Amino acid sequence: MTLDQTTIDRLAATPIPPQRLLIGGHWVDGSEAPLPVLSPVDGAQITTLSAAAPADVARACADARAAFEDARWAGKPPAERKKILHRLADLIDAHALELAVLGVRDNGTEISMALKAEPGSAAGTFRYYAEAIDKVYGEVAPTAANVLALIHREPVGVVAAIVPWNFPLMIGAWKIAPALAMGNSVVLKPAETASLSLLRLAELALEAGVPPGVFNVVTGPGRITGEALALSPDVDVLVFTGSGATGRRLLEYSARSNLKRCYLELGGKSPNIVFADAPDLAAAAKAAATAIFRNAGQVCVAGSRLLVEASIHDAFVAALEKATAAMAVGNPLHLSTQIGAVNSLAQLDGNLRFLADARAEGADVIRGGTRILTETGGYYMDPAIVTRVAPSHRLYREEVFGPVLAVTPFETEAEALRLANATDYGLAAGVWTANLSRAHRMVRGIRAGVVHVNTYGGADVTVPLAGAKQSGNGADKSLHALDKYTDLKTAWIRL
Ligand code: NAD
Repeated sequence: MTLDQTTIDRLAATPIPPQRLLIGGHWVDGSEAPLPVLSPVDGAQITTLSAAAPADVARACADARAAFEDARWAGKPPAERKKILHRLADLIDAHALELAVLGVRDNGTEISMALKAEPGSAAGTFRYYAEAIDKVYGEVAPTAANVLALIHREPVGVVAAIVPWNFPLMIGAWKIAPALAMGNSVVLKPAETASLSLLRLAELALEAGVPPGVFNVVTGPGRITGEALALSPDVDVLVFTGSGATGRRLLEYSARSNLKRCYLELGGKSPNIVFADAPDLAAAAKAAATAIFRNAGQVCVAGSRLLVEASIHDAFVAALEKATAAMAVGNPLHLSTQIGAVNSLAQLDGNLRFLADARAEGADVIRGGTRILTETGGYYMDPAIVTRVAPSHRLYREEVFGPVLAVTPFETEAEALRLANATDYGLAAGVWTANLSRAHRMVRGIRAGVVHVNTYGGADVTVPLAGAKQSGNGADKSLHALDKYTDLKTAWIRL
């Protein structure tokens, strides 16, 4: 699709009506007071979000349960379910720019990235799992001759999905598409600051032919709506992407309610490791800037810790500063913008606090690190590079989820590996080297769900994203994700 600024501007000026909940195929108002939706682009209120009270959530879960029990979705022939999910993917493509602009007004991601990463990726994800529907088989076990043992894969029932604000459509699709593909019902709870594009997706799902009650959306505060969903006895499996603090709470809710299985995709503090023998240091410097600063650093796999071999440290940091200065920060609805808005004022304040702490702990903020473009009313930050960051510093260990890069030198491969693994997280990593053996040693040694070599990011739906350590459990994407949405059942038949 060709992007043109005039169409984007027209879509961005479209008024957004007050939003409602989707329960049992009906659009209804939540019982809590509606929430204002403030756009990070300019701080203006663009609409209101309905807020679901526990009773509304209970109704959504009961409707999802009823839809599962009467098999209005799981009972359809696989070829028909496949057709409906393909139709949804086509509708997402047909409305891609509208969805992308709506999402950017809500969460602040730069449009050039949002179009590809949000509707583009979501449509691809729905197609991938639509195709899996009639290609995933059960098994016959190798038993003795007098027995036939069949292993069936069955849907789990009602899946609750709680998702964050940084890439709502992409991450939402990673959960909704495989859950629906396997025949489950879904109750989705988007983030307060990024619900709009997912509510539009729900409209498109109805239009595509997903039966009423099979896909429900409840919006509202995490501590009210999200908590009620995670406590619901009608939910069989809870899939979540978000912060570690919320992930911990969800495990408690599960223990306090019905022991629903919880799959958590949490944060990261991912090391991007540059050896002096990297094939193209200029390209590595550009990629290091992109790896942390696109979407204003609000990317779970962002390369937020740069580990650089000491012999090239100063030259590499100079190239990195140059690459960063070349990235335009500003209105995310402008095609030329490379770094959009920070999602909320609270997030921006948190980012700035990290920098104050880094200075107090003895690190050097060598560029950026301030709020800028305040005259727009929007939430913008000059991307920050911080050198002399030590493993004991808060900035080394904790996720900022903002445009802040921590730089640390190393002397040897062994030290690089030790530094890479020296946090509680294990989501992603990058390694830049021309030495094939070293690259493989690092891939083996780094504890992370994905290790990029001589590149950073870009892993597609065909491969899993599965956090190690405190970055989570279970996998999004690829056929491995289907394990979360199916139960195994054995039929043991004496012949
Ligand atoms: P968050 O944990 O604050 O919120 C995520 C979701 O949980 C939101 O929908 C929120 O309303 C809900 N929530 C909050 N409190 C709740 C509660 N008590 N009970 C139930 N639901 C509750 O996270 P965020 O700030 O929206 O997202 C940023 C985080 O997400 C970062 O840590 C980032 O690394 C992580 N993330 C991880 C991945 C991944 O694939 N591993 C991808 C994207 C983002």
